[in-house]
Amino acid sequence: MLFDSPDSFEDWITATGFAELGDRQGCACCSSLPALLTEITDRTHPLLEAGHWADRGRAPGPRVDGLWVNAKVFTMDDDLRVVDALAVSGGRIVAAGTREELEAQFGDDLTLIDAEGRAILPGFIEPHMHFLPIATIGRLENVGPYRFPKTEDALSHLGTLASKLEEGQWLMGRQFDPALQEGPETLTRWMLDEVSSTHPILIYNASLHFAYCNSKALEIAGIDESTPDDPASPYGRDEKGLPNGVLKGGRAIGSVVKHNAEQRSYDLAGAALEVCARANAKGITTFCDQATGMVQGTKEVEIYRAMAQSGRMTARLRYSLSYALESQWDDLGIQFGDGDEWVRAVGWKIVSDGSNQGYTGLQRTPYLFREDQGLAYVEPDRLNEMVLERTRRGWPLVIHANGDLAIDRVLDAFEATQSAGLTLCAPCRIEHCSILHDDQIHRIKALGLSPSFLIGHVYYWGHAMRDQVFGEAKAALLDRTGACEAEGIRWTLHSDEPVTEMGTLRCVENAVTRSLWKEPGNQLAPQEAVGVMAALRAMTIDAAWQCHSDHEIGSLEAGKCGDFVVLSQDPRSVPLDQISEIRVLETYVDGRKVYSADQDLPEEP
Ligand SMILES: [Zn+2]
Ligand SMILES: [Zn+2]
Repeated sequence: MLFDSPDSFEDWITATGFAELGDRQGCACCSSLPALLTEITDRTHPLLEAGHWADRGRAPGPRVDGLWVNAKVFTMDDDLRVVDALAVSGGRIVAAGTREELEAQFGDDLTLIDAEGRAILPGFIEPHMHFLPIATIGRLENVGPYRFPKTEDALSHLGTLASKLEEGQWLMGRQFDPALQEGPETLTRWMLDEVSSTHPILIYNASLHFAYCNSKALEIAGIDESTPDDPASPYGRDEKGLPNGVLKGGRAIGSVVKHNAEQRSYDLAGAALEVCARANAKGITTFCDQATGMVQGTKEVEIYRAMAQSGRMTARLRYSLSYALESQWDDLGIQFGDGDEWVRAVGWKIVSDGSNQGYTGLQRTPYLFREDQGLAYVEPDRLNEMVLERTRRGWPLVIHANGDLAIDRVLDAFEATQSAGLTLCAPCRIEHCSILHDDQIHRIKALGLSPSFLIGHVYYWGHAMRDQVFGEAKAALLDRTGACEAEGIRWTLHSDEPVTEMGTLRCVENAVTRSLWKEPGNQLAPQEAVGVMAALRAMTIDAAWQCHSDHEIGSLEAGKCGDFVVLSQDPRSVPLDQISEIRVLETYVDGRKVYSADQDLPEEP
């Protein structure tokens, strides 16, 4: 039992900083998850013990001491050398070079492996995702747009699932996104009652800021027309005041989902290791959680430690602490760099505004067809104070800023810290950094900052950014990878999963094509497209650098961790719009094969 009872909800609200942050309509960065209520109530909880993790997931296989030859080895070193051989031993890269020189040096000791001309790259690095939130909702049914472009198909799928449930069982789903799915603008209790009137149903919106439930769920939660609203997190209602099944914000969602006992005993360890395995299948060997503390409070760091100690991790974890728990982190005494090669604290995360497609990104000028300009989640004085104080304490800052005015204020804060005589803990990052003007690009360069772009904003939402959010001229300022590249700024791409799904090759394709999911053949600001090698660099060595880990991962150079991926094709040799279709054949972490397309994985004897 992870969450003792429905009553522990208020404790959770306090432990995660949710009470202070409140509920805001932004991206997943700022959405706490009263969602699944897997609250760990005391220090003896099994999730905090390595042994609890050790019988979950799969045992990693033995290390391979091998000499790969007949390969295209993308070293991603300073010269971006591509060579034909790679030596790996004891979980480390030993050398990358020509077959001739490596065979002479290591031929006697290492097993010769014929790569049959395939491409070998450093393991991909996902620099911005939300680890425990994904693990927490990962096993719920995906009813999102990439699986069901039409809402009616998602509902009919849910109906099939409901018919197979046992009496009293809940049906829960995730990723519903009416902005991208064809159909009604929202789900209501009445629509979900058609799916089932006997099983409670709860479906999360992709943003995690909303959920939708049926009448049975409302009945179990005891919510009716007389239930008062929390103004910050109300229940959607019809004209007569009857709750319509829409749950707006964390408290409202939590008031329903806390009654699902099955959810309270959720196997979070098993689900977390599944996130690692799913990343491995995309060639990802390291990911960075960008707001640690939002699901389980400060105990998340202890969960990470237990996971690392178990030896069951198949992907490395880097993490940035959520600013919402400032005093609690200070009480714990956690410092930048705490941890090891598997799990390490690498940043201090601040969320400065909302999301552009949600009209809460903070803008210099009003949104298209509207008068509003978005929201500041942190006022300038407070932002300046936090950047100064965390810099003083040795923390690299990682600041979410979507709108152009939010980015102005972030730049002001960094400049104020420099003017106060402090040196920034480089690299400091701006997350999403969605709308960028030329003057801001110059300031980013001068300050030595590094943006990370949520490139799915172009691919999945590009048409909406152009037609509904900004208009054509401002939408052309979205995710300016090309301009940053030209300016000599190092940048990366990210999924922000659960906002979009992790997938490095998909991100690379989005950045080199700038194509639109809803409008095949059309592009958004094609002048911002970058070359394939630039995009690959962003997802390997530059992502390692952004995560303060380029001394150990991100390139295939002697002494670095044995993390690499074997691809079916050379990404430079396929048409740009087919890069995401390249198959990941094998993924290695710590010199161990953690993913194989044919699923033939060795176990440690
Ligand atoms: Zn964010
Ligand atoms: Zn995020």
